[in-house]
Amino acid sequence: MPTNAPTPSALVRDLQAALGERHVLWAPEDLLVYEYDASIDRARPDVAVFPGDAEETAAVVRIANLHDVPVVPRGSGTGFAGGAIAVRGGVLIVTTRMNRILQVDAENRLAVVEPGVINLALQQAVAPHGLLYAPDPSSQRICSLGGNIANNSGGPHTLAHGSTVNHVLGVEVVLPDGRITWLGGRQLDAPGVDLRGLFVGSEGTLGIATKICLRLMRQQEAVQTMLAIFDSVEAASAAVSAVIRRGVVPVALEMLDQEIIRIVEPQIHAGYPLDAGAVLLIEVEGLRESVAIEAEAAIDACREQGAREVRTAESAPERERLWEGRKAGIGAVGAASPAFYLLDGVVPRTKLPQTMQAVQEASARYGLRCANIFHAGDGNLHPTVMFDPDDPDAVRRVLELGGEIMRLCVQAGGSLTGEHGIGLEKRSYMEWIFSPEDLDAMGRVRAAFGGEERFNPCKVLPSGHGCGTGHATEIRHHLATPGVYV
Ligand SMILES: Cc1cc2nc3c(=O)[nH]c(=O)nc-3n(C[C@H](O)[C@H](O)[C@H](O)COP(=O)(O)OP(=O)(O)OC[C@H]3O[C@@H](n4cnc5c(N)ncnc54)[C@H](O)[C@@H]3O)c2cc1C
Repeated sequence: MPTNAPTPSALVRDLQAALGERHVLWAPEDLLVYEYDASIDRARPDVAVFPGDAEETAAVVRIANLHDVPVVPRGSGTGFAGGAIAVRGGVLIVTTRMNRILQVDAENRLAVVEPGVINLALQQAVAPHGLLYAPDPSSQRICSLGGNIANNSGGPHTLAHGSTVNHVLGVEVVLPDGRITWLGGRQLDAPGVDLRGLFVGSEGTLGIATKICLRLMRQQEAVQTMLAIFDSVEAASAAVSAVIRRGVVPVALEMLDQEIIRIVEPQIHAGYPLDAGAVLLIEVEGLRESVAIEAEAAIDACREQGAREVRTAESAPERERLWEGRKAGIGAVGAASPAFYLLDGVVPRTKLPQTMQAVQEASARYGLRCANIFHAGDGNLHPTVMFDPDDPDAVRRVLELGGEIMRLCVQAGGSLTGEHGIGLEKRSYMEWIFSPEDLDAMGRVRAAFGGEERFNPCKVLPSGHGCGTGHATEIRHHLATPGVYV
């Protein structure tokens, strides 16, 4: 080591002794890629560690506690709410080395996995057994199952099957004091208080999942995928409710507006018409006979709402091509704009037409381009605001617009998140939908797990020591400690 090289801190030395030097990163240049996720905030951890199992994870948590520094769990870093950002520095526990599928029990339709397993890897492992793991976030090629359960992730196919919480049977967890325990088990209905259900969606604030037991489903006999083409977002939005009014709950009902079609199509060639005002991607599955009936009903409902054409995928490659446009859509935005901010809000399905119009009007008022690609069947909006990060005023306008869109969702009787979580991004909005008593109860749950101040601090709840009180931008001003922020 050169004589002027920085020397590792006592914290780093203790972590190296527990995990081995190669599994502990502490040089600033090595930490650069761990200072952000898919949100627009950044903060650098003091050290990033890569434990290989639950025991090593527990050892890291105990060492962090001894040194009185924060702990932040991280999977693949694809979260949109800043949940894996080390806002107050400390130890970032990255699960990528814990990436083994430990068991596929086809007879009992379950799988046991480590948290760093990528969602798609599990899908591929269970497919030869005629099984599937239903939650399929569009990020499934890169996101981890640990991140999925922390955020209670959804996906195009969770409309009929329910989000992640409906597919988790049990979780092995390292608690904030370093103890290891199981919540739930290998059956859906474990006796006692459902701590498994409490943990799923807790966004890394109650502990770190180190093993997960997941429910698998049988693949369906038949599937039909349709592309309904509309001249306007309003007509497509009205068709969403019309389909469900007919008694059909498709497994997927997704919308892409014109702005996103014009970004996606030239890159992906999915077959979306460039002159469409919006398209709906609709999928029904089940027994062959029922699929034919449901598809017909969905097509009728779209025509009734003014669809100018409804195309049906005639082969598996055609179906995959239609889905490729949806699943690679956000990546295409990344290629088309130097930066973007993707929001996640929910409105009742029936409020989609007016909310979509209000989102467009608000974006125009802020002078920002906004594209929409989202889980329309769930009323789960993802306005995606594109901006130039070199424009010093852009981040302020983007965040203000984001806040305004969230207000629209709440005023429409909806919610602050459909699947991405609250994280760092939306903690200050929690007071819009929860009373002080509600928030206090959530704080006490967190305290009961022992994760108040140091365990993924400044996430989900609007209060917290050293966290400031407002939006992420205000935390930056509030913190005296270093950390690199945009
Ligand atoms: C292109 C793109 C498309 C997306 N599409 C969807 C979508 O369709 N549906 C959807 O729901 N999301 C989607 N997302 C968001 C994101 O992929 C999900 O939230 C995903 O579950 C995050 O997983 P991750 O491994 O990247 O977690 P990270 O971003 O690393 O972490 C997310 C949160 O989980 C916590 N965490 C991570 N691992 C653990 C663990 N083992 N134990 C406890 N806490 C943990 C972190 O502290 C953090 O709070 C998309 C993201 C991108 C970039």
